[in-house]
Amino acid sequence: MNFKIKKFIKINPFIIPILCLSILSDYFKEFLTVLLLVTIHEIIHILVAYKFGCKLEKLYITPLGQKAILKNFNKIMPIKKFIVVLSGPLFNLILFLICDSIFYDSFEFFKKANLVIFLFNMFPIYPLDGGRLLQILLEDIVGFIIINKFILNLTKIISLILILFGLIQNILYPFNISLILISMYIRFISISEYTNNTIIFYKDLVTQEKKYCKYNILKIKNIIVGKDYIIKDIIEKTSWGTYLNVSFFYYNKLITFSESEIINYFLNENAYSKLEDIYLKKY
Ligand SMILES: [Zn+2]
Repeated sequence: MNFKIKKFIKINPFIIPILCLSILSDYFKEFLTVLLLVTIHEIIHILVAYKFGCKLEKLYITPLGQKAILKNFNKIMPIKKFIVVLSGPLFNLILFLICDSIFYDSFEFFKKANLVIFLFNMFPIYPLDGGRLLQILLEDIVGFIIINKFILNLTKIISLILILFGLIQNILYPFNISLILISMYIRFISISEYTNNTIIFYKDLVTQEKKYCKYNILKIKNIIVGKDYIIKDIIEKTSWGTYLNVSFFYYNKLITFSESEIINYFLNENAYSKLEDIYLKKY
């Protein structure tokens, strides 16, 4: 296997000063344990994704967490996406349960680290697994862009609460700034996660790849909206797993447009036009 590590793995240089700091403060063993656990957690995601036909584009290793960019991830079935995202935290939970039952009163830090990684990752915010699970669960129901915006706002609120907790923790235990740092990092990185998701969505829309991806079955969703509904708002309701048929009443007559018609109008005409504008232009 011709696996070029440099091409696939990017290590953040900040890992070196943090590593030195952990040696100086006598926390080297703990730092290494957490680094190893989160790296294996990420490798589990990659291996499961590989099984479903996704390929690794890049693995970012930073002192505050790992992130794998997977090719074709949006084009696999929602259930498979869900399994890929859940596999990482599930690995930590299983490891915790096994260790806890075998080594009842030893390996305390190892057990605690697995439990914390599991619980922390289940927060429904970006860029954590919980945020991605929430996105997969709701994108076909409310629309991809709408859920993407919602999770970004939720991340802003939760990270702010975590920063406040961090400040209180710092008053009680001075110089313990890890929670503040992690919360600030989450707030910062969530914006790039949101932006990347939005770019991928619109890019696939432009290349018409969104609906003609690898799904064998696409759910049809029929909705009825007002005739002055804006095209852009309908586009935000679409997702990879559903095909929308949008209907509206135009003077007691029910008019229906398919998602393809809406996408074509969105890309080639005015995104802020109303549904009745397409109808009047067409007839
Ligand atoms: Zn994960």
